[in-house]
Amino acid sequence: MSLRRAFDVIVIGAGSVGNPTACRLAQAGLKVLVIDRRTAVGQGENKTAIGGVRATHSDPGKISIGQESIRIFSTWEEEYGFNIGWKPGGYCFPVYDEKVESTLTSLLPTQKKYGLLIDWVGPNEIRRIIPGVNPVGLRGGTYSPDDGQVSSILAPVAFQREALRCGAEYRLNERVTDYLREGDRITGVVTDKGRYESCWVVLAAGSDAAEHGPLLGIDIPVTPDSHEAGISAPIEQFLAPLIVDLRPGPEGKTTNFYFGQNKEGQIIFCYTPKDLFVGTNHENLSEFLPVLAARMIALIPKFKNLLIRRIWRGCYPMTPDGVPIIDYAPGLEGLILAVGMCGQGLMLGPGVGKNITSMIVNSHPCISGEAQACFSCDRDIYQSKETLK
Ligand SMILES: Cc1cc2nc3c(=O)[nH]c(=O)nc-3n(C[C@H](O)[C@H](O)[C@H](O)COP(=O)(O)OP(=O)(O)OC[C@H]3O[C@@H](n4cnc5c(N)ncnc54)[C@H](O)[C@@H]3O)c2cc1C
Repeated sequence: MSLRRAFDVIVIGAGSVGNPTACRLAQAGLKVLVIDRRTAVGQGENKTAIGGVRATHSDPGKISIGQESIRIFSTWEEEYGFNIGWKPGGYCFPVYDEKVESTLTSLLPTQKKYGLLIDWVGPNEIRRIIPGVNPVGLRGGTYSPDDGQVSSILAPVAFQREALRCGAEYRLNERVTDYLREGDRITGVVTDKGRYESCWVVLAAGSDAAEHGPLLGIDIPVTPDSHEAGISAPIEQFLAPLIVDLRPGPEGKTTNFYFGQNKEGQIIFCYTPKDLFVGTNHENLSEFLPVLAARMIALIPKFKNLLIRRIWRGCYPMTPDGVPIIDYAPGLEGLILAVGMCGQGLMLGPGVGKNITSMIVNSHPCISGEAQACFSCDRDIYQSKETLK
């Protein structure tokens, strides 16, 4: 790789993806500049995530990247001495209806093929894994003990510290407004404060990614939609895994909902609305808490005593097929797209960073060709795909 420019790599966005990517690139010895329009790292959609981290997805791409992320998250404190709120304990999907059972069991062969520790367990085992779960109609569920949770507040600080230690530079409160080009090669960026040259640019702009399409002359099909979440006061630890209930809500407003108990003992939760709120409006709706509370209490009745501290709203940067785009940009040399993380950017971020570092340093991804194809710009991105979250 030529080193004649000021930076080897510019990363646009210090979020769930850009920040761990910058960290990995700097660890590989590259001269890295991170630019974010916000005043601190992780302040975009990153901080709205509730912290679920799993490799138990349904396609080889997200499975492979998820496995890489779990390796990084789960060993971070041991390796760097910085608590990122990692809590092992897995993911559990309790099941009350036949349709959900058949959806989940149909995924198991693929998940097992890629070495994931996940299985269907009976109702008694689910009652052991989720103390106090409503037993009426419980058919069993899936349990994947290797998954876990992390703090979306602590993780970005940890990645930035390590990136800075390895020599990365951050320009915060600075917005990328255009790109520098030589023919079909991207050679840097223009911001509202200056111009920076680099050999590579990584676009990790989350919900704002589509705005870069017209600047680059390519289609970046990322459309944000809003999701609400909340957190309780801490209670005694009783719940190890993150729980996902895939049933549609009886109130007709929600599809799945999910929650966990973080390392500090707080219950952290959110749901997927049935009618999506497309756009970036971050105002909570008054109906969120009553609807979510009813679902949580129906699943675990003792939650009726929970004290809720705070609710918020954030966005999933969605692609049409629910799968991220992580690829060399079509027709443009020197640019990598790492966009459209949907509801999974926090859990995918460190694995994406490792993959992109390999794409730059070794000229190929670190995951298999089959896995990488899932993230390709060339796939039929407009095909519909059933996603879990
Ligand atoms: C309620 C809720 C719960 C969620 N729970 C989970 C979960 O449990 N697990 C999980 O993995 N995911 C979860 N997510 C999804 C997750 O938050 C997102 O997928 C993820 O944060 C997206 O990461 P990103 O790096 O693409 O975007 P971001 O984290 O938003 O980072 C993009 C950054 O780019 C910057 N930027 C944009 N444009 C420019 C520009 N022109 N110049 C400079 N900077 C720019 C922004 O300021 C921002 O900091 C949840 C989301 C919501 C809303």
